[in-house]
Amino acid sequence: MKKVMYLFTFLLSFSMVGQSKVKTLLKAKDDVYFADRDSAYVDPYYGLRKLIYGNKRFAENKSISPRQTDADLKNNQLGQKPFATIIGCADSRVPNEIIFDQGVGDLFITRTAGQVMAEASYGTIEYATVALNTKLIVVLGHESCGAVDAAMKLPENPPGHVVSLINAIKPSAIKAKEANLDDTQELDLAVRSNVVEQVNLLRNLEPILSRKFDKGEVLIVGAIYNLSSGKVEFIEETITSLPKFKQNIKG
Ligand SMILES: [Zn+2]
Repeated sequence: MKKVMYLFTFLLSFSMVGQSKVKTLLKAKDDVYFADRDSAYVDPYYGLRKLIYGNKRFAENKSISPRQTDADLKNNQLGQKPFATIIGCADSRVPNEIIFDQGVGDLFITRTAGQVMAEASYGTIEYATVALNTKLIVVLGHESCGAVDAAMKLPENPPGHVVSLINAIKPSAIKAKEANLDDTQELDLAVRSNVVEQVNLLRNLEPILSRKFDKGEVLIVGAIYNLSSGKVEFIEETITSLPKFKQNIKG
């Protein structure tokens, strides 16, 4: 039991240290709550800060629900310029605009169970990148994900099309099982591993995203939403492995 507690504390502190490193790398400040919308659309690093600040407002009960007036909702004159594409889980407890405290026209969202992607998802993400010129792509997993939990059970005959979800998540589930952790930690690890796999999949997706990512024209990062705290943790390894970002650090 002591050993498990120690490991849990270690993982928790590791994650918190990771978040402060992510904030430093992204120049996100602890006492700032707002980021300009137009700048977020032009610069995806700024867009990441905007998501961090919006989530901080939400987690601290300081949401302002921007751009959600009747006029905002019924205005179809201006077209759309979403500053971020989110690939998230369909879970009803993870409403993207609410947890990032964003409004109409801000986020271009695709949601499926376990944020498993297929052809139509790829086309949707590419459309946002090419036609809407959205430069930031976030794969958003979450704590206690039912789809990942189902894959952890390695079912032999999942019903109907659910099999496609299970098969996509299974490699991450098996990897997490091999770590010999307790059930909750195993699930947390599988959720994280699934997000990282999906980030890598998009970074390598031909013919559009892989090229744009390599040139530094789009950022593709991973994050995990914590249902209990309301906080979104951006996964450090997906931030430090941004090619253009490394150049920024050197500069
Ligand atoms: Zn889920």
